[in-house]
Amino acid sequence: MRPFSYLRAQDAPSAVATATGRPETMYLAGGTNLVDLMRLGVAVPDVLVDVSGIASGTVEETGDGTLLVGAGVRNSDLAADPLVRRRQPLLSQAVLAGASGQIRNMATVGGNLMQRTRCPYFQDVTKPCNKRLPGTGCPARTGENRNLAILGHSDSCVATHPSDMAVALAALGAIVHVEGADGPRTVPMPGLHRLPGEEPERDTVLGQGELITAVEVPPLAFAARSRYRKVRDRASFAFAVVSVAAALDVADGIVRDCRIAFGGVAHTPWRAETAEAVLRGATATEAEFARAAEAELAAARPLPGNAFKIPLVRNVLVRTLTDLAEAS
Ligand SMILES: Cc1cc2nc3c(=O)[nH]c(=O)nc-3n(C[C@H](O)[C@H](O)[C@H](O)COP(=O)(O)OP(=O)(O)OC[C@H]3O[C@@H](n4cnc5c(N)ncnc54)[C@H](O)[C@@H]3O)c2cc1C
Ligand code: SF4
Repeated sequence: MRPFSYLRAQDAPSAVATATGRPETMYLAGGTNLVDLMRLGVAVPDVLVDVSGIASGTVEETGDGTLLVGAGVRNSDLAADPLVRRRQPLLSQAVLAGASGQIRNMATVGGNLMQRTRCPYFQDVTKPCNKRLPGTGCPARTGENRNLAILGHSDSCVATHPSDMAVALAALGAIVHVEGADGPRTVPMPGLHRLPGEEPERDTVLGQGELITAVEVPPLAFAARSRYRKVRDRASFAFAVVSVAAALDVADGIVRDCRIAFGGVAHTPWRAETAEAVLRGATATEAEFARAAEAELAAARPLPGNAFKIPLVRNVLVRTLTDLAEAS
């Protein structure tokens, strides 16, 4: 591992002041992704600014039922929070579907949102990769791409975003609070992460040095009836092959409202707005759920190794919505 300096941040503004304008400076939270990437030689920071001591570690309820989740909240604590479990069970389930108990005890909300792709070429410094070294090419397009994107990819990059939590937050329309050199700002989910386009090295819309300070989860009454379902190669310690986060509001057999997001299919958590629009006002039947899934997936462009993801995510969505409708 390349030698680096370590600084413990005193507060958010001083952390931002230290990192801004210095691309070789990186924030360190739980370290469960960043330290692995440093060991692999994928991340080579000169300076690590440890933000684990300054990021809020609390989940607070504001007056209107919004939950304000500090960027430093550990994944285990978020999943176990009684308000989250009662009001947004899909969020708790998504976090518990990720990593392992030990990793969730270390990993933070901010770090989880900012974790890097698990594309095997990105993690192997002996291989070209446009995300790691812009302009070197994308061997995944014709190589090992079983786990990579079917939606929104570009000639430059076909990677998927790995966070389960982010998929649930995209479905819930969460708002990310950010501190930067020009002060605080907010970024609505799923807009934090970006499609690769011609700049796959940029995973998110955050500028260099911007720090996530909190995530706001707005109230959504029908999110109490919600689910996160993840398909993976092993029962634990495995990233999503595909996943679905869904919340459903059904009255008299008609879908009044719904929220749907997919994981494991794109460079971002994929909010399924086309499927949502098809379902609003439709009967809550398997046939309508399948029609909505197909409308969303009409835009899919599978790679040679991952066409199976199209029927897989469709079937997972139909099963998940059927379960939610039956519980109504
Ligand atoms: C074996 C293994 C299996 C895993 N399986 C899953 C899984 O199935 N699903 C899943 O979702 N995740 C999984 N993970 C990933 C894990 O959830 C992430 O490593 C973790 O959430 C990252 O959080 P952290 O606090 O440790 O971040 P760090 O590793 O400290 O940081 C990650 C990135 O975020 C940046 N960062 C950290 N905090 C901030 C902030 N406040 N503002 C801006 N940038 C910040 C860092 O600079 C770094 O680039 C797995 C990890 C491992 C090792
Ligand atoms: S898919 Fe993206 S991360 Fe993977 S090799 Fe291609 S450019 Fe790199």
